Amino acid sequence: MNCPVCKTRTLATHALEHNLISWKCDDCGGQWINSFQFWKWLEEHQPNHEGVSPRTPDLTSNETKAVKTCPECNHILAKYKVGHSLPFSLDRCGHCGGIWFDKNEWEILQGLNLHEEIHHIFSAPWQHRVRNEERARHLQALFAEKIGVQDFEEIKRIKEWLNQHPHRDELHQYLNNKDF
Ligand SMILES: [Zn+2]
Ligand SMILES: [Zn+2]
Repeated sequence: MNCPVCKTRTLATHALEHNLISWKCDDCGGQWINSFQFWKWLEEHQPNHEGVSPRTPDLTSNETKAVKTCPECNHILAKYKVGHSLPFSLDRCGHCGGIWFDKNEWEILQGLNLHEEIHHIFSAPWQHRVRNEERARHLQALFAEKIGVQDFEEIKRIKEWLNQHPHRDELHQYLNNKDF
């Protein structure tokens, strides 16, 4: 199998996790996970719900934006945004189900304990949530631009305080009352 980024470089097997092999490119650091192997690992893997324990903190992804083709079956890989404020997308083959991770992407997901959720990233509800997150971030940015960053931080602080206040309904009534 050749690297979908470097094209001519051959991928070599790499022991990614206990019971999970990936096909890694020594040039760009990206790696391919075969669909069958991923599902098998997921089934046998003991989920770690003990909380987040990043193995390699402060990694940034080396996302390559170019269109990639599947190293196994040559179909074009589709991009899926990861969300959770992570700036990168994963590339997945819709035909064989294999997944391409650019350098550090697996490690970042692993550090956040999201590597056990990767199959959900490709689902419609996940992608819907990612779009909603993006829309909210976009609206907040517009709002901050309009009222100024400092005032935006202040109103955000006030809103948080309001929303967790035991008398929040009364406080909202007071704010909305035009008579006093
Ligand atoms: Zn490569
Ligand atoms: Zn494929």
